[in-house]
Formats: sequence, structure tokens, C-alpha cells
Amino acid sequence: MNQDEAKCPACGELFSSLSMHWWHGTCPYPEFEQWRIELITGLLLGDGSIPTVEGNHSFRVPMINRRFLNWYDNKMGYLTTGVRLVHTADELAASNRETGFSPNARAENYHDMYVVRTRTHPRFNELRQWYDSGSKRFPEDLTLTPRITRMWYLSDGYLDVGRWGRPRIEIKARNEHDRSEFLLDLFRKQGFDPIFRRHEIRFTCDETEDLVNWMGDAPPGFEYKWELDSRERYRELKQQAYEECTTHNVKPES
Ligand SMILES: [Zn+2]
Repeated sequence: MNQDEAKCPACGELFSSLSMHWWHGTCPYPEFEQWRIELITGLLLGDGSIPTVEGNHSFRVPMINRRFLNWYDNKMGYLTTGVRLVHTADELAASNRETGFSPNARAENYHDMYVVRTRTHPRFNELRQWYDSGSKRFPEDLTLTPRITRMWYLSDGYLDVGRWGRPRIEIKARNEHDRSEFLLDLFRKQGFDPIFRRHEIRFTCDETEDLVNWMGDAPPGFEYKWELDSRERYRELKQQAYEECTTHNVKPES
């Protein structure tokens, strides 16, 4: 089976372009299950995006963590088209040197960037409304669930593991820095009471534990962000994640 070929969930036939099959109307566009919508919503809060196109939209998740992307691609099944390399560490470093973003960027400090794209689907046209103001903004009617929050946290959150004391969760939300009350309310509705400082939602040590329990288990590739008990174990898992879940300087596929 080639990478683009997939089985239509309605008729069970194999197609090289499932979106065309649905677009032609032979089978209707499949409805997404709630858990799929939650995975997509949580990743769209974080690293995911819906680029502008003519016609139906698709959803993309660019990341260096290939292990997580493989898991996500498998979970999404017929809806996504595999994990692909988009930029090598070399290319990312070179482009940051050229744009002046980081004049001394060295490839060894970068990782290869991968992406998982979905097939096009009208549901992503609705989600594209998040961009109506010109930049990505979270919708007013957003309600967090454990699964949505898990995906958001693994994208934009991190554990603040100092030299002393217990770790705290912080989630970056620069795009929403002018709506801090809205952001805090998202968590207050779920029984948490974080604060907003320097474009980040911050939790106390106790609430960090509660939040981790509420979110549920770490998805593959991000176990370190869930390790609250031991600073050493956290560092080990993080190093392991960078060594085993990412790559350097692989030549791009042609
Ligand atoms: Zn079909």
C-alpha cells in the first residue's frame, strides 16, 4: 500500500485520493468521532495549523518529535497521510541565518522538522474560522477536556523544573496574551486556578499534580513532560526524547 492509499471508512474500498472520492460524493465525507475532534482541537491550540487554500482545507502538525507524530498519524488512521520530513536541521539553521533570526545558527543545535497532514475535509473549513481576525485566535466557546488539554500541553507547555522544590506546569499562549481572563477561565471551569504571567498560564506545584492526573497519561514521545516525581528521571526522559524521538540532518525525501 503506498503512503497516500487508504481505505474509505464508509465503503471499505482503497483509494489513492480519498478526499477526491468523498468530494465526488460517491461516499459522504465521514463525520469525525468526538475523540478525533478533541485531538485536532488540542493540537490546533498548540503546534497545529490550517493553512489557507482554495477549496477544502487540511490540518497540519509540524514537529521535531517524530515518535509522537507516528503515534498521532496511526491514531488518525485514514484521515492523515503519514509522517514526512519537511526541513532538515541543516536547512532550518541556514534559513535562520539568512533571515537574521539567528545569525550564528548551527545545524547541530537544530532537529529535523516533520509534518503530518490530514486529507482535506469540510470540517477543517469550519476550524479555519479560528483565523478570521488575521491570526490564530481561540474560539469563545472553547471548552477544555483532558484530551484537548493533553495535546495543548505537549505542544506549548513545559515543566518548570528548578534546582529546588517541585515542578510547575507552564503553558505559553503568546497569541492570546490580551485575553488572559478568557484563558484562565478555560481552566477555572475545570476546577483549576492558574495565573497569567509573561504570556504564560502558570500552575502551582499542587495544581500541577492535579492537572497531570486530570489530563491522563502522557502520549508517546512526551513522557518527560509528565514526570513530576524525580528531577533526575525528568532529565533522563527528556534527553531520551531528544535522542530517540528526533533526528538530525536526514536528507529530504525527493
Ligand atoms: Zn467510500
